[in-house]
Amino acid sequence: MKFRSLITGAVMATITVLFLSCRGQKSRQPDIRLLEETLMHLCQPGFEGREAGSRQDSILALSIARRMEEYGFEPIFEEGPLHRFRVRDMESYNVVMILRGAENAGSVMIGAHYDHLGMGGQGSGSLRPDTLAIHPGADDNASGVAAAMETARLLAGRAGRGKMGKDIIFAAFGAEEKGTLGSAKLADTLAKLELLPSLMINLDMVGRLRDSVLQVSGTGTFEQADSLLTACLDGSMPLVLKTSPGGYGPSDHSVFYRHRVPVLFFSTDAHTDYHTPFDTPDKINFQGLEHIVSYAVSVAGAVAREGFDPVYRETAQPESSMERAAFKVSLGVIPDFTYEGEGFCAGTIIKGRPSDKAGMQDGDVVIQINDRPVKDINEYMDILGELEKGQRIRIIVRRNDALHHLVVQL
Ligand SMILES: [Zn+2]
Repeated sequence: MKFRSLITGAVMATITVLFLSCRGQKSRQPDIRLLEETLMHLCQPGFEGREAGSRQDSILALSIARRMEEYGFEPIFEEGPLHRFRVRDMESYNVVMILRGAENAGSVMIGAHYDHLGMGGQGSGSLRPDTLAIHPGADDNASGVAAAMETARLLAGRAGRGKMGKDIIFAAFGAEEKGTLGSAKLADTLAKLELLPSLMINLDMVGRLRDSVLQVSGTGTFEQADSLLTACLDGSMPLVLKTSPGGYGPSDHSVFYRHRVPVLFFSTDAHTDYHTPFDTPDKINFQGLEHIVSYAVSVAGAVAREGFDPVYRETAQPESSMERAAFKVSLGVIPDFTYEGEGFCAGTIIKGRPSDKAGMQDGDVVIQINDRPVKDINEYMDILGELEKGQRIRIIVRRNDALHHLVVQL
């Protein structure tokens, strides 16, 4: 494989290779030791906080792929298990593998981003930008990767017993912290190949289960989501579900929902160590992680097994608390961070929000607001910061080479 040449002996020697033995046995229960092992593997100091584009990036991605191979998964693309992408001057990878189902009946994707903030610093996304230190990202998102891999392993066991109709796609996304870049590239690629999944389950920050509360959003993104989620929660799983309908959120599922894929987003929510060097493995609730895996297997298994085809639904989405905290006003768009041209690309227009009401469409590129040119996303953010709620603004957007003048009521 061509990516193997990227591994130099010197770098390899600095990384403790924990993924040694074959763990392909097909047990039916989550294995807490495997969850711990995977999480510790991702958090080891040799990976220096897993920043996308770092020199260890391919090694880490490849180690995940190797383990998935042991579980019976194979590459979905001809180029191998690593889906390489480049955005501006950064190159990173998605690990994308598949377990073929019995029928030609669609697929269920289990996804989690494997990157984190590296050593932190200004512009990294760290909430302690003045401290240069390894950001281990145990919860964000070693927990999600460990859970996704274990979920995939258990689903492979079920498939071995002839219980799977749909394909299972395992995806470990790169560069989520830089703006869901890996998942955006992957969703585009899968869309072109007409291989988008029937359901995408995203696991991001699932390692801090408190009071048994698991947040599941996306229940409005397909029909019968609520009854599916309830039916899959049997008495042996001590989980309390806190559901919300929206399909857009600050993680990789958003980009799939933009492609009209039904999504579910599992998370145990933010905490005071979020995006700091203190998001460490000792604070992970492994027992909780185990319950979440059981539940994810149950949900994914039900969809993969029973000819259940999630039917996409559009959801309106209220302004999120994150948006409110960041800006006084918002247009209600999700930026396309992979856009490299001039202007600000509104990748997704959220239904019912000011941008939608003004007639903006997915992919519109904002090039002017109130007579001020918008060169890039930073200028867009600056201008937005100066606007007030209730104001009417004039914007010019470029759509398929034509310019449109719109009025947005904030
Ligand atoms: Zn994060």
